[in-house]
Amino acid sequence: MSATGTVLILGGTAEARRLATTLHEQRVDVVSSLAGRVPDPVLPRGEVRVGGFGGADGLAGYLTGRGVRAVVDATHPFAARITANAVDACARTGTPLVVLRRPAWRPQAGDSWLCVPDQAAAASSLTAFGHDARVFLSTGRQGVAAFRDCPQRFWLRAVGPPDDADLPSRCEVILQRGPFTLDGERRLFNSTHVDVLVSKNSGGPMTAAKLTAARDLGIPVVMVERPPLPPGVRAMTGVEEAVADLQRMA
Ligand code: NAP
Repeated sequence: MSATGTVLILGGTAEARRLATTLHEQRVDVVSSLAGRVPDPVLPRGEVRVGGFGGADGLAGYLTGRGVRAVVDATHPFAARITANAVDACARTGTPLVVLRRPAWRPQAGDSWLCVPDQAAAASSLTAFGHDARVFLSTGRQGVAAFRDCPQRFWLRAVGPPDDADLPSRCEVILQRGPFTLDGERRLFNSTHVDVLVSKNSGGPMTAAKLTAARDLGIPVVMVERPPLPPGVRAMTGVEEAVADLQRMA
């Protein structure tokens, strides 16, 4: 790919790291951006910057100052604010934007999913499982405060330690980073005797084993649906598709 200017990858996902590697190998000038939330993050190949830009204004200033020729928003499907900022900043600066989103998971035969629009709705839905239900929260620490007032017993899996003030009163924290194996997820669900799994519909293979384990063990899943993309935005679903789009722009 030959074009002057930097490609900015808004990252924090496995796809963003794969994209950075591919572009690096094609000798594209690429900088990956991480929010800086996770201690000891897995770093992408090539140049990395860490921390917020300061809203859409700050991002627009960065795009102009750094001479960014294209932005790839390869952030997590639930990172809606940075996506909205990217759409805004790119529109204002005339910078082409590619949005990369892994496909959502779909229920399969044998699954018992209750789909809800957000984590607050997921918390409300737990009433149906009873006061003493055992709940596996695989939603990570962001948004866990939605479950703070729930009486059920929780196991929260997160990459980094959550704020204690956000946790429900009966909650054990499991600090673990994916990918997770089917055997490991089965063992975890069996040892905790969970009655229900709460998951974001993140998609992708790295954390999908929990859904297979839940299906095999007959554990119902409360599935939090993704926030919608900003109006008019169409997402690419694969790294190769995003690279081809960038090549067309070069
Ligand atoms: P968010 O709510 O969409 O963004 C909040 C703010 O964090 C943004 O306004 C921006 O600050 C900053 N930010 C987010 N992503 C950034 C990036 N890649 N580079 C620089 N600044 C960034 O995002 P979030 O849900 O907190 O997620 C933060 C990061 O973790 C994302 O990069 C995402 O890919 C990753 N992640 C999120 C989840 C999840 O479940 N949400 C799961 C796995 C990984 P300024 O306004 O100051 O620029």
